[in-house]
Amino acid sequence: MSLSQLARSIVESPTVSLNEEARLLRERGEPVIHLGIGEPKNKTPFQAILAGAARLTSGDVKYTPVEGTPSLRKAIIRYTEENYDRLVAPENVIVTIGAKNAIWMVLFTLLNPGDEVIILAPYWVSYPEMVRMCQGVPVIVTPEDGTFVPRFEEIERAVSSSTKAIIVNSPNNPSGAIYPPELIAQLVDFCERRGIYYIADDIYHKLVFDGKRAVPAYSFTQKDVNASHIIVINGVAKLYGMTGFRIGWAVASREIIEIMRRVQSQTVTTPAAILQAAAEGALNGMQSVVEALRLHVQNNRDVLLQELKTFQDVRCIRPEGTFYALPDFRAYSQDSMALARFLLQKALVVTVPGREFGMEGHLRISYAGETKDVVEGIARIRWALDPTSPNEIYIGDRRMVRDWL
Ligand code: PMP
Repeated sequence: MSLSQLARSIVESPTVSLNEEARLLRERGEPVIHLGIGEPKNKTPFQAILAGAARLTSGDVKYTPVEGTPSLRKAIIRYTEENYDRLVAPENVIVTIGAKNAIWMVLFTLLNPGDEVIILAPYWVSYPEMVRMCQGVPVIVTPEDGTFVPRFEEIERAVSSSTKAIIVNSPNNPSGAIYPPELIAQLVDFCERRGIYYIADDIYHKLVFDGKRAVPAYSFTQKDVNASHIIVINGVAKLYGMTGFRIGWAVASREIIEIMRRVQSQTVTTPAAILQAAAEGALNGMQSVVEALRLHVQNNRDVLLQELKTFQDVRCIRPEGTFYALPDFRAYSQDSMALARFLLQKALVVTVPGREFGMEGHLRISYAGETKDVVEGIARIRWALDPTSPNEIYIGDRRMVRDWL
């Protein structure tokens, strides 16, 4: 019997498949440098460890309320007040299994078959697939001027009578761009007037550089959260480096959260109790961990840009946040998948092909890890691509021979 056509049509997340290839190489003892992965290398914040451990050692690890523990939701309400200047009620908050599942549940809650969702390129790989899984139609808007920030008019042109929502991810994975406040203001105003849901994926919102700020969408509406079309997604994965804890959340109108709650109750029941306790520990703990991470990745961004300058033909728009950059490698190859595979096999460096983010010819480079890896990784890429570099080099005691792309 044939399996679901829709399910079979979903492609695997390319970051996951490249990570797998890199893992296998590492297992064989190859000195792989990972500039592909989207997670900081910091240790879990101390207060998160303590809170998670306390819950575990209490031996009282049961189902929690579907929408998350009252105390974690209280911490999220406080976070929303402090960072978004918005007072929300407990019924405006749901805790989810990572921000990823929050986005999926929001889309499942909003979309009827055929509803369109506007996605701004370059975009996070999972958005179009999630929209399709919820029987919606992704509508991609690509900036025509070669930047990573679409103009309002370009977005407006993509809106139709079937447009249900727009996903806005700023600071942006994969480009590191922060959308200007004027654009956010125009979009919020447009969405509120037209009844289009504005999904703010704010997972990187504090990882911003050079004194810049990712101005929250809430700043541009007077509407109460229950009347507003803004839905805010966030989580502990990126800011606290707690990717493995899988705790995210959504803040939205009571009506949306109630439907999400029912969906969650019939699917995952609730995120794990221990992990919710740990997330609460992170939110209530010392926030200097976020600032330390921000400073680390900002420094790595500077190092990366410096290293990339040594390539004559690689253009890189300066990232303003996150821990990604999306340099343009079209001078070397138009096929970013072939280029990423070549770099993994020949230089043992993991990058992610821009094609997956709607930007063919680019490579996403993550600088979330150690500074020395950024330097070494880019040096290897230069060696592999520059025709004037020596034919062979040693990485440790591993002899690497140059090959042509
Ligand atoms: N949104 C964006 C833009 C992301 O990059 C990621 C993680 N790579 C997520 C959401 C998902 O976050 P989580 O790990 O909390 O599910």
